[in-house]
Amino acid sequence: MEGNNHNSTSSAVISATSFALHLPEPDVQIVTSGGLRIPTHSSILAMASPVLENIIERPRKHRSSVRVIPILGVPSDAVSAFVGYLYSSRCTEEQMEKYGIHLLALSHVYSVPQLKQRCTRGVSQRLTIENVVDVLQLARLCDAPDLYLKCMKLVSANFKAVEQTEGWKFIQGHDPWLELEILQFMDEAESRKKRTRRLKEEQSLYLQLSEAMECLEHIYTEGCTNVGPYDVEPAKRMGPCNKYTTCQGVQLLIKHFALCKRRANGGGCSRCKRMWQLLRLHSSICDQLESCRVPLCRQFKLKAQQQKMCDAAKWKLLVRRVVSAKAMSSLSLPKRKREELRETMGCHVLKTFRFC
Ligand SMILES: [Zn+2]
Ligand SMILES: [Zn+2]
Ligand SMILES: [Zn+2]
Repeated sequence: MEGNNHNSTSSAVISATSFALHLPEPDVQIVTSGGLRIPTHSSILAMASPVLENIIERPRKHRSSVRVIPILGVPSDAVSAFVGYLYSSRCTEEQMEKYGIHLLALSHVYSVPQLKQRCTRGVSQRLTIENVVDVLQLARLCDAPDLYLKCMKLVSANFKAVEQTEGWKFIQGHDPWLELEILQFMDEAESRKKRTRRLKEEQSLYLQLSEAMECLEHIYTEGCTNVGPYDVEPAKRMGPCNKYTTCQGVQLLIKHFALCKRRANGGGCSRCKRMWQLLRLHSSICDQLESCRVPLCRQFKLKAQQQKMCDAAKWKLLVRRVVSAKAMSSLSLPKRKREELRETMGCHVLKTFRFC
């Protein structure tokens, strides 16, 4: 008989407890699907489980007879382990390994919250691709939200493999609602991921622009490598610049802007447009009135005062984001991450941004 071993364990627990607590003779028999009869004490069962308490307190025809409570639908050894837990508040790792899902179901049905917690943890540590769909169904039936979420995450991270399992094939045929729930969860997880990625990309763009702004001032005030204001000696501007990762890129753009023929002809040179936008952005952020040395700073300021630009709201939003990007990043990222971000910026900074 498969139940013998564990039955004797639970009987040992029960008789040890009886001895310790001076319990009377067992007055309830629990009967399993496998035909196992486990002698138990109504007082212990009632204390451990309000559901069993209700069953015990139901009026009966013959007061004297031993009450029989069937616990069916799970292996006899799982019932043994369950009864053992009711007496001792303990179950072994081996029992958890073998009967974790049965014990979870029993702890839910008979309202034994500590055991339910233990099983939720135990079962979630033993999740596999093979059993995840079954456990998911059980978690839903037993109202175990932590376990449910863990299953959903495992399914959506390994969907290709899960699709091949018997469990998945079963719910496809028998539980279209659960199938729909899983697909919806995966869809939402995907769009959450996309949203986070997009936010990260935007934040890094604003950060790049914010650094490009500092870099513009640095070049036009101190000069760097071989670009700089006319009154600063080129000899003092020896490079390469290690102050800003964007410096090289900005310098190239400045040189291009000075020499580009298409700009002079009024053509649509994209690099010149970028430079133009950088200068305009600088002017929107710059608070030095007369002393600023960045080209066109005052002209842009005047123009902005004279005419309400058509895209004023959008532009202001951009300016605000660039200004706050640096503060945000230094608050939210650890130092190592900030440095990584700087690395990735490199000279690409001016190739990647778009306005409007
Ligand atoms: Zn520099
Ligand atoms: Zn150009
Ligand atoms: Zn300025």
